[in-house]
Amino acid sequence: MAKDPICGMLVEKERSLKTEVAGRTYYFCSDSCLHTFVSPEQELKNLKRRVSVAITGVVLLAILRVGIYIGLAAGAATVTWVPPCRVFHFSHGEYGSSSSLRQSSS
Ligand SMILES: [Zn+2]
Repeated sequence: MAKDPICGMLVEKERSLKTEVAGRTYYFCSDSCLHTFVSPEQELKNLKRRVSVAITGVVLLAILRVGIYIGLAAGAATVTWVPPCRVFHFSHGEYGSSSSLRQSSS
């Protein structure tokens, strides 16, 4: 018996898939395990793609949550922003009167 270096499964040497690397023979339970061993770059790419898909999902969920928080914050802020809004209207009126003053002086 030999151990599959990829999944750790015990396999029969006579009936399993095998490959020789640097004078050592490795045995595999399946073609996919052999493939992972022979070309780990491809498997890494697949893993990266899966991870990036997962990250995209997490980021989208975070954006959605932040959007909800901003929406809630904006809703709460409009209540607290009422007094400064009045101040703004007041100062705006002042600006209007000063500009009309300037217009009349020139
Ligand atoms: Zn395996």
